[in-house]
Amino acid sequence: MKAAVLRKINQPLSIEDISIDTPKANEVLVQTKASGVCRSDLHYIQGSYSHDLPVILGHEVAGIVEKVGSNVTYLSPGDTVVGCLSIFCGRCERCLGGRPALCLRDPMWGLSRTGNDNPKLYKAQEPINQFLRLSSFAEMMLVHENALVKVDPEVPFEQLALIGCGVTTGLGAVLKTARIEAGSTVAVIGCGGVGLSAIQGARIAGALRIIAIDTVGSKLEMAMAHGATDTISATAGDVVQNVIEMTNGGVDYSFDALGIKQTAEQSYDMVRAGGTATIVGLIAEGVKIELDGVGFIDEKRIQGSCMGSNQFRTDMPRYIELYKQGRLKVDSLVSQKLKINEINKAFDDMKTGEVARSVIVFN
Ligand SMILES: [Zn+2]
Ligand SMILES: [Zn+2]
Repeated sequence: MKAAVLRKINQPLSIEDISIDTPKANEVLVQTKASGVCRSDLHYIQGSYSHDLPVILGHEVAGIVEKVGSNVTYLSPGDTVVGCLSIFCGRCERCLGGRPALCLRDPMWGLSRTGNDNPKLYKAQEPINQFLRLSSFAEMMLVHENALVKVDPEVPFEQLALIGCGVTTGLGAVLKTARIEAGSTVAVIGCGGVGLSAIQGARIAGALRIIAIDTVGSKLEMAMAHGATDTISATAGDVVQNVIEMTNGGVDYSFDALGIKQTAEQSYDMVRAGGTATIVGLIAEGVKIELDGVGFIDEKRIQGSCMGSNQFRTDMPRYIELYKQGRLKVDSLVSQKLKINEINKAFDDMKTGEVARSVIVFN
């Protein structure tokens, strides 16, 4: 099968012919139909997060079940599925406590193959690493059944793929991690796929004011089309000061969809007394955030969000239903569709900041 392989940090992905194993007991072979290109993939290409190489990246994906392992009863060949990196074991204290996105993923519990098993992905004698137990920049994926949710087959694959990471991350940060109240004031920093989904989460939850912040004018226009009530250009003056002036003291909730030291600190500085900043974007390994300690006496809070605190097997079908009802816009998040051999263009375009989401489509 054709796949895009990362062999060296900061090098273009190479399109190669890779072999894939057959499903073991709880595994499922999936024909990839669409895979979004997410900023987290770029982090690994650039080395701000590290991974064993060579690796096939990609983790925002929808496809069709081709073949299931002998123990799989949840899925059958022909089912439409969305993959999620929040694979759950279903038996640890976090899974049982209702927070499966934080699953302990004990290596003893068979969510991944071990060193004694055949590699899932290989090229001749060379094993190729799987990324986040998915590796969706490839024509086929071999994944554990607990990384998949069966979904409505009538929704286009590109839209389903985006729900698999960006939409769930942004929407979930607002609805599930921060659990904002109707009437809240909200600011969202970064208006790519995740930020636009956070803006929509705030609209769906009934936020009174939704302030979108970005450096790119076209993204601020998109933000308005997705539910923002106000915009701030991050290139025009002090962002925090602007938010504080606009809201008479700061917002109730802020969301940093970028995950940069500066934006994380701004997200804390722009909340009012009693407000909460939620860090949604991935902050690079080793980066330290500095906060003004005085804010804690005002009961200001800052928190992380892992993939929208998802319980994806129940959340994603609900988000898909919101999409079908027209209350969640996903079509407009798909900026361009590319073939797998054009994947490096998707990363180049991401760096310019002009696109919401590029999606790799497969036949
Ligand atoms: Zn992602
Ligand atoms: Zn678990």
